[in-house]
Amino acid sequence: MHELSLARAILAEVVEAATVREVECVESIHLKIGALCGIFADSLELGFEIASVGTICEAASLQFSTSPVTIWCQSCDTAVSPIGQLDFRCPKCLTSSAQLITGRELEIVSFTPKPIALVSC
Ligand SMILES: [Zn+2]
Repeated sequence: MHELSLARAILAEVVEAATVREVECVESIHLKIGALCGIFADSLELGFEIASVGTICEAASLQFSTSPVTIWCQSCDTAVSPIGQLDFRCPKCLTSSAQLITGRELEIVSFTPKPIALVSC
């Protein structure tokens, strides 16, 4: 399962960052997923639930936002949203572009520690 290994990678990164900040329990993790990533949020959540057992992220919920597809148009010398998600042409000049700027990334935007008084993990 592709999402399980992704969940493990996200978990490792958040645990490391949280440990450095002496966070004892993570409440939520905000992820940004590119529209072309092909990641299923449900599967990623399930993978995370499995991977996070016994860690400081066990009680953490995942929050998702999607980053749109943008390409670089050589002719217009600017970043644009392509005509379609699978049609990488500039909407202004119709030049095809192979330069994807956003849309493929999976990014950990932030995580929220649980307030100390509520810590119970
Ligand atoms: Zn253009």
